[in-house]
Amino acid sequence: MEFYYRCSDCGRELAAKEIQYLCPHCASVSQPGEFQRGVLETVIAREHLIALARRKPFQVADWLVYALPDKGKAYPVGRTPLISPLHLQRQLGFTQLFLKNDGANPSGSLKDRASQLVAAQAIHHGQSTVVLASTGNAGSAMACAGAALGLKVLLFVPATAPKAKLLQAILYGATVIPIRGTYDEAFRLSIEYTQHFGGVNRNTAYNPLTIEGKKTVALEIYMQLGGQAPDIVFIPVGDGVIYAGVYKGFSDLQAAGLIEKLPQLVVVQAEGSNAIAQAYRTGQYRALQRAKKKKKKIPASQRRLVCRSQRSGDCRRAIATDSRGGDFLRAGRGGRLGGIYQRIKKA
Ligand SMILES: [Zn+2]
Repeated sequence: MEFYYRCSDCGRELAAKEIQYLCPHCASVSQPGEFQRGVLETVIAREHLIALARRKPFQVADWLVYALPDKGKAYPVGRTPLISPLHLQRQLGFTQLFLKNDGANPSGSLKDRASQLVAAQAIHHGQSTVVLASTGNAGSAMACAGAALGLKVLLFVPATAPKAKLLQAILYGATVIPIRGTYDEAFRLSIEYTQHFGGVNRNTAYNPLTIEGKKTVALEIYMQLGGQAPDIVFIPVGDGVIYAGVYKGFSDLQAAGLIEKLPQLVVVQAEGSNAIAQAYRTGQYRALQRAKKKKKKIPASQRRLVCRSQRSGDCRRAIATDSRGGDFLRAGRGGRLGGIYQRIKKA
């Protein structure tokens, strides 16, 4: 499908014939410790979206900017259940409360949606290697996509990363490259690797297709609700990329004329990792000082999220929640439900 890239900071447009990452103008003026500047968003022309809206039946894959290899059969991402949690609905007093269970994806997380599209991008551009830095679900998801579609996956990780978190990626056959340094350094090295040796870089938000791929969760929710958008979506957020993907999905549906307005997007962050919630409150785009063991890259989509939400009001509330979960999955679940409880208490 025809599309182009637009810088979320300066609005410059870049052609999509080549693989593009950050806006070269804005990325070059990014300051250390600041949220990343120059993150690109993919743009599909409105007339294409309107044409897509007329297609029957509604197929999520039609809305992606690259055709899925093997039509998605080899790596069947998405179509995850929208659960009606009866007990929770009664407990909270909302009969129309739903949970989207993306744990049902092939590698067990929403990251499969991004990896699927990056794999499609690599195959479209004749690349056989995908490179990324990750210590968790993104690495597992890309390794899973690589195993399913015959792509080599190189995963840069800090040597101190917990082995248990890397096990899934190793079992899928990824080549894991431990480095002496932090996650930030692994991230930088993975980019330098693709600059020198080629391949596609899948680093979250650095490659704009990681956001575009995640929009499918919004398209599925629209479809599963019988062709309507929910009033409110609670989104667990670390670096802001899931938010950006959900926003993009509903924005495309709105531009296509399928929904009248965007749902209210409520961003939920764990209290110990709430850079976005803090930036939203203070207007300071600074990374958090993280615990030594969890040193992580400055979250890539945070700048865009906070700017956009303050400018347009489309994301009207940032909530910091207390999540005491020790691992990613538990923290994620705690964050989601914690956000719902807090919102209801305030209502
Ligand atoms: Zn720019």
